[in-house]
Amino acid sequence: MSTSRPAILLFRNDLRLSDHAALTAACADGRPVICLYVNDPLPADPMGAAQQWWLHHSLTALSAQIELLGGQLVLRSGPTQTVLSQVIAATGADEVHWSRRYTPNAVAADTVLKTQLKARGIRAESHAGRYLFEPWQVATKSGTPFRVFTPFWRACLAQLDQVSPALPIPSGLTFHRHLQSEDLPDWGLLPARPNWAAGFGPHWTPGEAGAFSRLDQFLSARAQGYAEGRDFPAEARVSNLSPHLQMGEITPRQILASLRRAEVTGDVSDRDATKFLAEVGWREFAAYLLYHTPSLPEVEFQPKFVPFPWRDAPDDLAAWQRGQTGYPIVDAGVRELWQTGTMHNRVRMIVASFLTKHLRIDWRAGLAWFRDTLLDADVASNAASWQWVAGCGADAAPYFRIFNPITQATKFDPTGAYIRQWVPELSALPDRYLGAPWQAPEAVLLGAGIRLGTTYPHPIVDHASARAAALDAFGGL
Ligand code: FAD
Repeated sequence: MSTSRPAILLFRNDLRLSDHAALTAACADGRPVICLYVNDPLPADPMGAAQQWWLHHSLTALSAQIELLGGQLVLRSGPTQTVLSQVIAATGADEVHWSRRYTPNAVAADTVLKTQLKARGIRAESHAGRYLFEPWQVATKSGTPFRVFTPFWRACLAQLDQVSPALPIPSGLTFHRHLQSEDLPDWGLLPARPNWAAGFGPHWTPGEAGAFSRLDQFLSARAQGYAEGRDFPAEARVSNLSPHLQMGEITPRQILASLRRAEVTGDVSDRDATKFLAEVGWREFAAYLLYHTPSLPEVEFQPKFVPFPWRDAPDDLAAWQRGQTGYPIVDAGVRELWQTGTMHNRVRMIVASFLTKHLRIDWRAGLAWFRDTLLDADVASNAASWQWVAGCGADAAPYFRIFNPITQATKFDPTGAYIRQWVPELSALPDRYLGAPWQAPEAVLLGAGIRLGTTYPHPIVDHASARAAALDAFGGL
């Protein structure tokens, strides 16, 4: 049955048209769809500056995609409830659909929104799509939430064949158009002076098409050897899909479907596919933990770590943030982040361990810095990962596992290619000293054009004593 009343599709972090259950529902009975994005940030879940860059470009891509199909992406600012009222009054729309959000703050806001709309006789529906499983679908035999990844993921894998196939872009989409829309540049999402995001462009293509081309490139050329290669930051063995996933430009079930096809054609081995899918599983687990433990971004998951005596050390924090700790692998990671908006996972672990163990600076300071600088910043994955590295999270690395930034560099950047790329002032140093330049004889340093303390910093802490102090402090809890 066709009806002339339009339905509103409220876009959030689901900036795509395919595998979009909310879009599919909005146009299910032939209604014209109003594609609406409301600039209404949640103050409790602030979007970092880097991610705002991504949002600008992702909205640009989505808008172009919708226009190609004959529609319009309407951009408005203000409280979502107010904007919806205005659009409903102007168009007679009587349905609103959106993709479900899962952070505690978003759940609270959307629950209120739904109640308000329903009270006015508007059909308001939220739809799944961000994860393979809804957080309430997976539980232990006794019905409690899992606290450890391996059994959680085993339970997920046991239900994997129940994941429904990804949805296509609805055919015969019609749009309600010619609504007043704001100009995206006026939202000021892009940095101006200085334009610190200038280096992002060559690395990324935000938007649904960019997400799929990343996935295709990964599966056809980079995924072979993922299981081992994923730990080596100089190797192009990871997918770089995380910012696309974060903005909802691609869904995990689309990734799953492509992965299965690549296994059938032999492009990806079962071993690599299993490992890659398990990483997607860690993303599911993080969202699951946050859903069941809403305090995850603020409070230690394991209560015994709450009283840990974090150091208040603003100079050390600043040195870490600027990539000037004197530990090349740490500095390389932070500088990669500055230049590209991302940091390789292995290096994130080293960098986070350095902050929380060597410097004993509160993991929440690291989390806040990552939130502002990572293009893939995600409330759940960021919090779960910081807690994991700090040793206080669910299923966490034990507190006494302290990454050694010198041996980690030797092991995971054996040719020094990663350090040389991001810390070019050390590039002439022989491989064996790249992880610890202060161990190089003076003549070698001079030969490489390095003057410690001038061209590159002395280490801000001594590894052995920092390690001992951390063990002492953690062990005392
Ligand atoms: P791939 O190796 O190609 O993995 C595929 C996908 O699996 C990723 O895109 C990502 O969605 C997911 N994934 C992989 N590893 C993890 C993981 N350990 N935890 C959760 N999901 C994972 N990831 C974020 O998406 N947002 C964050 O804010 C974030 N903060 C982090 C903070 C710290 C301290 C650490 C140690 C890790 C953090 N991660 C975060 C996890 C991980 O580093 C990134 O997801 C990964 O580096 C993204 O690169 P990729 O897409 O090439 O990953």
